[in-house]
Amino acid sequence: MTIRVAVVGSGPAGSSAAETLAKAGIETYLFERKLDNAKPCGGAIPLCMVGEFDLPPHIIDRQVRKMKMISPSNVEVDININKQEEYIGMCRREVLDGFLRDRAASLGANLINGTVYKLDIPTNNTDPYTIHYADHSDGSAEGTMKTLKADVVIGADGANSRIAKAIDAGDYNYAIAFQERIRLPEDKMAYYEDLAEMYVGNDVSTDFYAWVFPKYDHVAVGTGTMKVNKADIKNLQAGIRKRAAKKLAGGEIIKVEAHPIPEHPRPRRVVGRVALVGDAAGTVTKSSGEGIYFAAKSARMCAEAIVEFSNGGTRIPTEADLKVYLKRWDKKYGLTYKVLDILQTVFYRSDATREAFVEMCADKDVQRMTFDSYLYKTVVPANPLIQMKITAKTIGSLLRGNALAP
Ligand SMILES: Cc1cc2nc3c(=O)[nH]c(=O)nc-3n(C[C@H](O)[C@H](O)[C@H](O)COP(=O)(O)OP(=O)(O)OC[C@H]3O[C@@H](n4cnc5c(N)ncnc54)[C@H](O)[C@@H]3O)c2cc1C
Repeated sequence: MTIRVAVVGSGPAGSSAAETLAKAGIETYLFERKLDNAKPCGGAIPLCMVGEFDLPPHIIDRQVRKMKMISPSNVEVDININKQEEYIGMCRREVLDGFLRDRAASLGANLINGTVYKLDIPTNNTDPYTIHYADHSDGSAEGTMKTLKADVVIGADGANSRIAKAIDAGDYNYAIAFQERIRLPEDKMAYYEDLAEMYVGNDVSTDFYAWVFPKYDHVAVGTGTMKVNKADIKNLQAGIRKRAAKKLAGGEIIKVEAHPIPEHPRPRRVVGRVALVGDAAGTVTKSSGEGIYFAAKSARMCAEAIVEFSNGGTRIPTEADLKVYLKRWDKKYGLTYKVLDILQTVFYRSDATREAFVEMCADKDVQRMTFDSYLYKTVVPANPLIQMKITAKTIGSLLRGNALAP
């Protein structure tokens, strides 16, 4: 026998899963409701993603080597990457997603332009799942209702995942990120050529940060908050627009967008022969709100487990087999998630702790460690002396800002 795997959603997660499965010769169906989807996103990716996912240069619109951290009292700290070969990649999601999807299809995944509405769950371990979807290949928005049978299903359908609901994966808390795309006059855009800005403060986000990221020919200006209330978000967005007002003067809003960002994993990420990956599973990190790399990576690891435990597609994997993907994932990245969670709790607590955070970012060793862990996704242990210095500096900054007061 050969197994059939359906992957629902073709953002970075779904296409990465489909690519790994198709490469292994497994019968793969990749569903995407909107082939020209431009996911609301800052589009910042770490350097290691370019190498690990073999992204060609045209996917990266800008190579950012300068990051400006701006404190509540507008103290600015410049964090620069000095090596020419290192950078944060800025991409347009429609370009990145389109590339990954087309590559999966060219390697043999069957791409279906369809919206998945329902998943019928079998009552035993061998019968297939039935996917109900509207096929849009006739060009219509309503499409034609069809079904497809699959032995394994990967839910890569993002934060509002229908597959998660179908398997009763449980809810997660989420933040709402709001973003305006602003086209700037040429001289203003030149300032953001290879520079991204992060603003912290109660006026721009009560529990996260606000950003100005350079995109292809414009900047993305946005904020995120867990206080999911429309009026709050509008006020915070007004806050970042005010703080960056001089640099954004003369800009024209070309797009306004908002989307949920999961705050933590769902209670159940594998149920039966259905596995969730990426935002559907809840793989975005705290503090940085980074999700593209982790979506692609979790999906690849899930697909690798399917290839391995199905003996290259000749045996139906079990729930326990799929759960191996989760064990490996948690082992590899569990600590990263914990550290970033603690960082967010400690430093985004008040304006005093935020001042301390920005002050701490001026330290070159802190900068190197932060960049290494972001760019390469490896926790590079600093030598003990540097570790001690960083700890002392952190406590010093917090004390100076009176940030440890209850
Ligand atoms: C404003 C904002 C800014 C962000 N900035 C960054 C950043 O700079 N860097 C970063 O790393 N992360 C960022 N993130 C997070 C990042 O966007 C997500 O973590 C990432 O997109 C997750 O990828 P995914 O493939 O899991 O899901 P998605 O990218 O959401 O992809 C899901 C796909 O499934 C499709 N789909 C959904 N439902 C169905 C269905 N029923 N049938 C068929 N297809 C379906 C959708 O059309 C979509 O293509 C940001 C998020 C937001 C909201």
